[in-house]
Formats: sequence, structure tokens, C-alpha cells
Amino acid sequence: MNRVCERWSQPSKPAQTGLGGHAGRPTSKPAEITTPYTDSFADTDYSYMSMSPPSGAATPGRPSQPPGLSPQAPSISGWLPDRRAALDRLEDFIPYAGRPYALSRNFDLGPQQRSNISGLSPWLRHRVILEEEVLAAVLHQHAPDTAEAFIREVFWRGYFKGWLEHNPAVWHRYRQSVSQQLTRLDSQPGLNSRYEAAVSGKSGIACFDAWASELIATGYLHNHARMWFASIWIFTLQLPWELGADFFLRHLLDGDAASNTCSWRWVGGLHTRGKTYLARAGNIDQYTLGRYPLPAGLADVALPIEEAPLAAARKPVLPGALPPGERYGLLITEEDLFTETLPLPQPPEVIFYLPVPARRSPVAASAPVTEFVSSLIAEAAGRAGHHFSTEAISLPPDDWQAALAENALRRGIKQIATAYLPAGPARDLVTAHWPDTLALHEVVRPYDRAVWPHASAGFFRLKKAIPALLQGLMPTD
Ligand SMILES: Cc1cc2nc3c(=O)[nH]c(=O)nc-3n(C[C@H](O)[C@H](O)[C@H](O)COP(=O)(O)OP(=O)(O)OC[C@H]3O[C@@H](n4cnc5c(N)ncnc54)[C@H](O)[C@@H]3O)c2cc1C
Repeated sequence: MNRVCERWSQPSKPAQTGLGGHAGRPTSKPAEITTPYTDSFADTDYSYMSMSPPSGAATPGRPSQPPGLSPQAPSISGWLPDRRAALDRLEDFIPYAGRPYALSRNFDLGPQQRSNISGLSPWLRHRVILEEEVLAAVLHQHAPDTAEAFIREVFWRGYFKGWLEHNPAVWHRYRQSVSQQLTRLDSQPGLNSRYEAAVSGKSGIACFDAWASELIATGYLHNHARMWFASIWIFTLQLPWELGADFFLRHLLDGDAASNTCSWRWVGGLHTRGKTYLARAGNIDQYTLGRYPLPAGLADVALPIEEAPLAAARKPVLPGALPPGERYGLLITEEDLFTETLPLPQPPEVIFYLPVPARRSPVAASAPVTEFVSSLIAEAAGRAGHHFSTEAISLPPDDWQAALAENALRRGIKQIATAYLPAGPARDLVTAHWPDTLALHEVVRPYDRAVWPHASAGFFRLKKAIPALLQGLMPTD
């Protein structure tokens, strides 16, 4: 266990969601490295792919193993819903977060072989572990430039969160569109059957169908598979991007309003205006090591999706610190499950928690997602109750506002603190039904306060700020 993890670690237990895993494969010669969301990725020359061989044959230049992958690197084998499991995975992965990650991360080796990526996202998304913890652990073992690729990916998460805070209308528009598009399915049988085929893994495109099934079964997809899937959904199957994003959000254990919505928009040419991501058969073949028959009939052009102009970006208005002295209750939601480390002036009088995830979609979230997130929340509430030596009360999902107001009144509490609620389902739920007898104070983490101002436009601005952010954000021992 490294120094940083020890500082924040807590003991705990488990019930597992996800995969069965095994160890890595031997290292081999380097191949071209591409990185999602960088210009170099968008500008990759795919022209050699027009010479793709028939299905089953090896693509010329395709490596038989990912470069850099260490045979010792352990694969993630699933996602237990607790912080201990997150720390264990972090500890296992950190030695490989340098060059092995940079060289091999773009390879999707299948659900049984996830040693080349951290697999931390289901925990990071819910803040069971924090970005700054992960970054500190990485920097404890690697020089910043050795682990640059991994560090940058962790900041992509903060970038999308910050970007959506600057552009919350994108989230609201997306929510409205999902409802409208789902209604359209009822009146358009052709669209409906294409949609049903896609989400049930019957599109006829073998890799796409395998990813749909994998997503449903495991709650996870490799980043590259997410990009190919979204691209095929939008440009080959000609399905509305919002329905694909909704399918992901319902099934991903790491389903996140910002990362998911912005990434789908990025693939479709709405995030970086006019720049789309086109999935190519040869690229899929190369980065899956030929696990699927070479997909035929993929779209060969990707025209950017059009949408009505967006409202101008706004500077997020972040509340100041919670004033000391006043008694308060702490509300825990799925957005932040490490409340022991929130900047709070004194311990809360009582903890309340919303025991199930907020509604990610007009259609129910998958059972594995609901189970995973509910267990994470319960574990976090127990941990926080123990830490603050305070009772943790589960609120009834259907009438949580009344129970919260009544409980607070009985204890003479007029103020509730909660970790800042970024744009997303939990914010929608809490702010739409907040009891007017209680003041709500959102507590902003220093990490978000530091990172989000750099996320008003493209990633490049944040990328430039990473060295300074790393200096300022790392916890001191
Ligand atoms: C269409 C699409 C939808 C996506 N939806 C989500 C989502 O709902 N939730 C989510 O957390 N990520 C989403 N991603 C981003 C990315 O695919 C996952 O974060 C990553 O695959 C998680 O696996 P990992 O933890 O092994 O990542 P690693 O490669 O080990 O990276 C470490 C951490 O960095 C962050 N990260 C890495 N890549 C990205 C990225 N491209 N964007 C944002 N953060 C990143 C994650 O927190 C991740 O855990 C999406 C990407 C695409 C293309």
C-alpha cells in the first residue's frame, strides 16, 4: 500500500459486479499510439485501411500483442462496491501507470483482460476515491512525464465535469431530447427496430453486438470500444446520438452526465464543433488484436451532427465555504461518496443519504448499476457515520424530502450541507424537490475549484495548466 493510499484508507468488505480476470500478456514491439480527444488522434491517417484484408485475415502491421504491456500487470476482475476495493485496484495498477499504460491503453483486449487500463472509473465517478488521491499515488511512483498519459486522462474527467458546469444547458437539452427520441420510437417502426437491434446486440455487426452485450453484462466498456460503438451508432446505424448516450448511461457503472454526454457529442462533432470521430474497420481490428471478424459496411464518412445554437457558456457560480459554528446535517448523494474529506468546518449533527441512484434516464437504469451504486452509497454512509461519530439515516427514495424536513426539524437543524452537485440526475432530483424549510449549502472540493476554471473551452487550456495544478493540489503528508 503506498503512502498516499494509507492516509485515506479505511477497512471494509464486498458482492461483486463485473468481470472475471486473469494476468497480462507478454510485451512486444511498439505500434502507433493514438489518444482519444487529442488532435493527433483526430488527425490520424487511416488511409492504409482501404487495403484491409478480408474478414479473419490479419491486418498488415497489426501487432499480435499490445506494446508495453507487462505480463505481471494484473487485470481488474470486477467492481466491488466499496472504497477498499478501489484502493486495492489503485495499488495494483499504479506500477503500470507509466510507459506500459501510455503504450498499451488504446488496446481493447476484451473483458477478461483489463490489465492495460486502471478500471478505476466506476469508483472515481462516484468519488469513492478522488482524482487527487489517484494522481498523488501515481506521482509517488512515477515522474510526471513518465505518467503523463495517465495523468492527462484523469484530468479529462475534470475537464468534462467543468465544461458541463460552464454549459449546463447541454445537459438539460440532452435530457429533453432523450424523452423526445424515446417517444419517437413509438411512432416510427423502422427507427424502433434499428434501435432495438442495436441495444440487444443484433445489429449484425459482430464487434458492435459484442460490445452491446458486454456493456449489459459487465457495466463497462473500454474507452476505445466506447468510441467505436458511439461512432457506429451515429454514422453507420444512423441512430440518434441521445439514445446511444442514454443506453450507455443506463448500463455503465461509471455512467456520468458529463463524461458520457460530452463524449457522445465529441464523437458526433458537437463538442469540438465540426470534428467527428469515424470508426474504421482496420483500426478496430488493430486495437482489438483481430478478435472480431473485420466489420464490413461501416460508414466511411462522418458528417457532423447539426443542432440549434447553444446558450453562451456561463462561469460556474461556486458557493463559498460552509460558515463555522452553525449546526447542520450532511446529505450524501451518489455524486460524492468520500464525504469524510469534504472541507467542512465541524462534524455534521446527523447524516442523511439518498440510498439509490437518481434517475439516469426515463427508462430504468440497469439492475447492476442500481445495485452497485446503492451498495456504494450505503457503504459510504456507514463510513462517514463512523468517521463523524454520527447517525446515518437512509431517506426513503420516494418521499425523501418530507423525511429529510421532518427529521431535521425534530433535531432543530435548519441547514443541510452536501457535496457540490454537478449537472446531472442527482442535481436535478435534489434541486427540483428541495424542502423550503431547509437551507442547502453545497460544499465545493478544492480540486473542482482549481480545475473547472480551465474547462471553459477546449481541453488544451486545461492540459497546459496540469503541471501547476499538480503542484497545487497534491495532499501534503
Ligand atoms: C462515448 C463515450 C462515453 C463515455 N462515458 C463515460 C462515462 O459515462 N463515465 C466515465 O467515467 N467515462 C466515460 N467515458 C470516458 C472513458 O471511456 C472512461 O472514463 C474510461 O474508459 C474508464 O476506464 P478506466 O478507468 O480504465 O480508464 P483509464 O484509462 O485507466 O483512465 C483513468 C481515469 O481517467 C478518467 N478518464 C479516462 N479516459 C477518460 C475520458 N476519455 N473522458 C473522461 N475521463 C476519462 C476516468 O476517470 C478513468 O477512470 C466515455 C467515453 C466515450 C468515448
